[in-house]
Order: sequence, then C-alpha cells, then structure tokens
Amino acid sequence: MLPEVLPPWTPRDSVKVTAVRAIVTAPEGIPLVVVRVDTSEPGLYGLGCATFTQRFAAVAAAVDEHMGPLVVGRNPADIEDITRLIHYSAYWRNGPVLNNALSGIDQALWDIMGKRAGMPVYELLGGRSRSAIEVYSHAAGATVDETLDAAAVLLDRGYRHVRLQVGGPGLGTYGAPGTRGGYPRSPHPDGWDVRQYLDATPRLFAAARSRLGSSVSLMHDVHSRLTPKQAIVLARALEPYALSFLEDVIPPEHYDQLPAVRAASPVPIAVGEQLGSVTDAARLIKDGGVDLLRLHTSAIGGLTPTRKLVALAELLGVRTAFHAPGDVSPVGVAANLAVDVSTPAFGYQESHTYNEATHEVFPGTPVVRDGHLTPSDEPGWGVDLDETAAAKYPPTKFLHERWSARVRRPDGGLEAP
Ligand code: MG
Repeated sequence: MLPEVLPPWTPRDSVKVTAVRAIVTAPEGIPLVVVRVDTSEPGLYGLGCATFTQRFAAVAAAVDEHMGPLVVGRNPADIEDITRLIHYSAYWRNGPVLNNALSGIDQALWDIMGKRAGMPVYELLGGRSRSAIEVYSHAAGATVDETLDAAAVLLDRGYRHVRLQVGGPGLGTYGAPGTRGGYPRSPHPDGWDVRQYLDATPRLFAAARSRLGSSVSLMHDVHSRLTPKQAIVLARALEPYALSFLEDVIPPEHYDQLPAVRAASPVPIAVGEQLGSVTDAARLIKDGGVDLLRLHTSAIGGLTPTRKLVALAELLGVRTAFHAPGDVSPVGVAANLAVDVSTPAFGYQESHTYNEATHEVFPGTPVVRDGHLTPSDEPGWGVDLDETAAAKYPPTKFLHERWSARVRRPDGGLEAP
C-alpha cells in the first residue's frame, strides 16, 4: 500500500483492495491475461480482461510492478479516480500495453461493484435495451465453395450474420488458408498480391449472394492491407452485395483518412479494434470516420472509457460491433455483453466458440445459442477463473510473430498481416 496515493476523502465504507495481480493462461493456445483484484471482504474479488496476446508478459509486468501498488489500500468503488490516477501517473499517457493492464484493473473493479450491489454489471449501466445479443461468426475456406459451405453450417446453427474470407495465393484474405506458389517467377512465389485480392473478393460475395440469398447479413475483414484509394475501389466493387460492414480497410497509421474513405464508401465502415487511445477513438467518431465502432475493450482501457465512447457513438449515430475473437478472454466477452445489452447504439457482436479447456479455466464462459449471446444475470460479470486449471495451460511466446513474418508480397516485402 502506498499511503501517498490515497484520495483526500473518506470512503463510505471500510472495504479495501488487498491485492492486485495478473494471471496469464492459454487454454486454447492463445495467451490470455486476466487481472484479479482481491479485497478485505472475505470472498469478494473481481476479474478483468487485460489480454494483449502478442505482448502478454509486458502487460503482466505493468499490472504487477506499476499499477497494482496504486490500487492496494483503495476503496474499490472509486473506479473513476483510481483509473484516472493510473492513466495520468504514466505522464506519456497509455498505449495498448498499459491500457490493457489498466483495463484488467478497471474491469475487475466493475466486477467487484456488481458483486457488492448484487447486480449484473449491465444493470449498473442502465439495464437492458434488448433481450439478447445478435452475434456474427467467421466462415473461411481455401476456395469460394469451402467458404460458403462453412457459412451454410453457421446459418444452420442459427447465425444470421457471417463474416466471409476466402483463400488464395499467399495467405489469401485474412483468416483464410493460403495457396502456395502463386507467383512462380517472383522472388517470393508464396506471396500475397493486392490486385488478386481486389479481384477475388467481389467474386466471393457475388457467389455468396447467389448461394445464400439476399437476406443473410455478410461482413468482410480487410485486416488493414489496403491503401485508402484501394479501400474505396474495393468498397465500390462490393456495393451490389449489400455488406453489413467492411472491416479495417486501412492500417491504423492512416486513420486520419478514414473520414474520406467512409464518405466515398457505399458500404458501412467498421473499425476500432486497433485503437489504443480514447482520444483517437473519440476523434474518429466525431470526424465521421466510422459506422461500426469495433473497440477491443481491453486495448482502450476497460469498461470506464468504453462506456463513454459508446455514449458518444449513440449520440452521433454510430453503432457498435465489438472485437471478440479468441484473443479476448471470457471475462472480456462478459464486459462486451454488458455494454451490448444495455446500449441503444448496439450494432453487432463478434463471437468465438471457446474450446473445453477454456470453459474449465473460466467457469461461466458465455456460450452462443441460435446466433445469440446473453449476459449472465449473476452479480458482476458472472465469469470466474479457476487458477489451478489456468496453470495447466502456460502461454507460448512469438505465435503471432511467426504468422506475421509469413505475410509477404510476391516481391518479398512485408505486408500488414
Ligand atoms: Mg478484425
């Protein structure tokens, strides 16, 4: 406990934070970071998602070495003051490593708040705006037929929203398998070529509309591989297929050009999982650079900044489509669902089907049923962490780096993964 960081007021009650620590586990092979905050009240603790899977050890060190000691001794109800102190005391503000660490603490404090109130967190946010949360899932394949077969399986299972990605030379489109040797006379025959991608993607969606019909909601993730002009070319080529959104059309380095891209795009633009600055996210909403805000709630700093950005989105006519593939922990999914079910700005929610080991590590992991997720009605997030089980699945470093190193053009140059 650092008595010098206590605020100049006396808390309403004597509950105090007694310990803060990061736990890293990889039940699905993907390193997940969770923060546990313990309190002076027996059995009362909170969990928060701090998953920056590519830099998990740095996040854990930030929690254990720098931020946790600022929280021990504090009343867990002072979430706004605690998170502002953590943010400002870094002076240079927070990038994704520190924001994920902050998020783990922030979400754990909200979990504690809910448990103390005996209410699910979504009720603390204003209660339900809807019965359940419509989710989308991913269909990918080496060929158009394989992709559409995978989509048909999802539709049979009750999903009404599907993201389509198809393979091709190099690593195809993001999330789809690549074919080898597409450019045999190039220095890197296994490369990815933008012209091939811009040609293949509209053909995928033409085939999808012909086979799946016009009423299915379809999405596509560019994964930051295009320039602003190429993004506009692709968006216009996709107009006949009425996508629900086109995701991450340009790299975050060029987000200042998103308002121009969005203005020229007949397809709604979804972006936000790579945002690590609340200010950048607020500017993007205000400047008209986004239709669907895809926050990774731990990268942006947790529930506290997320609820502010979502309120701004609601007021300015932007909707949500939060990031949640396998590199968001089930605790982070629960935080997403609390926002999704309570905000009028809800658009879509990305979903992931966790393996059995993840359910063992995280009792209460949300499960998709008939294309919907439902938040737990348990106090707090309704998701727990079994640390004995978590210890059975230690994380591995450099998984993402090995994959990123393979995403190269036919001339051998690195591409955005
Ligand atoms: Mg994405």
